[in-house]
Amino acid sequence: VAKQSGKNAYHLFDMAHDEAIKTQHESQERMRSALIQNELVLYYQPKVNMRTGQVTGAEALIRWAHPQHGLLAPAAFLPTIEDLPVSIEVGEWVIASALAQMSAWQAMGLHLPVSVNISAYQLQQSRFAIRLNELLATYADVHPSWIQLEVLETSALEDMGKVGQVMRDCHAMGVHFALDDFGTGYSSLTYLKRLPASTLKIDQSFVRDMLDDPGDLAIVNGVVGLARSFSREVIAEGVETCLHGEKLLSIGCELAQGYGIARPMPAHQIPEWVANWHQEARWSA
Ligand code: C2E
Ligand code: MG
Ligand code: MG
Ligand code: MG
Repeated sequence: VAKQSGKNAYHLFDMAHDEAIKTQHESQERMRSALIQNELVLYYQPKVNMRTGQVTGAEALIRWAHPQHGLLAPAAFLPTIEDLPVSIEVGEWVIASALAQMSAWQAMGLHLPVSVNISAYQLQQSRFAIRLNELLATYADVHPSWIQLEVLETSALEDMGKVGQVMRDCHAMGVHFALDDFGTGYSSLTYLKRLPASTLKIDQSFVRDMLDDPGDLAIVNGVVGLARSFSREVIAEGVETCLHGEKLLSIGCELAQGYGIARPMPAHQIPEWVANWHQEARWSA
């Protein structure tokens, strides 16, 4: 009997495994078809310097204009293709599309640095730097230093040897890096010293709660101090209110991104938004 049930259990596991493979395969095919049908779009969220009022750049954020389900946020579809080969194709589409957009903006006189999110899986591919170099050559009018790659703090530290090398190769081409959602991982200061990341992005969870939670305020303060000690830039994400902006300024964090400044928007709205953004500072320190 024992032998019998063992066999059944094995059979069940086998079926669950097949089922998982099938689901993965379906996710891949759906995403490939979305790429072919041109259903993926990049939204852009402005970044500003709260002290000077200057618009310092924009972050490209992927959306899926799904024919049945409407505009899908990344959380609704990126996890289903995580670590699958198709995620590399999507990642390359994101970079190519951001470069094409920057080139188009430049042609109309708008010089805007753009940051693009990169997954750990992308960064673990040795071909990543080569492909990036090819894409930069295709859009030769865009200077590499205007592109910033946002890497999750956690993924940058996952495979330090490999990822560090890929980052250094890209950095040598002039591309900048930011460590995204900084503070949510277990960043060792040694890693920070070794990684060629010019910017630390304070995670929005800390920014959001820093006015009520002394622990979160301490983290925000800590990251700002860390950035200063390592001569890195620091930007706060999730800046939703003036109070948040003022607090950040008083701590010494001038760069910000968040709904309180602008929500992510389609690319065509960016030039008008930039033109209408008041040059004078909105927040007084
Ligand atoms: P992230 O890179 O940390 O991007 C910031 C997220 O916070 C965006 O969500 C943005 O819309 C949202 N956000 C901005 N300001 C505020 C605010 O004031 N309050 C609140 N509550 N949220 C704010 P989104 O667009 O849904 O993206 C979620 C995550 O998906 C991103 O987090 C990033 O990790 C990932 N992602 C987005 N686009 C791409 C992409 O092209 N490739 C990869 N690999 N990941 C991407
Ligand atoms: Mg990001
Ligand atoms: Mg983030
Ligand atoms: Mg995030």
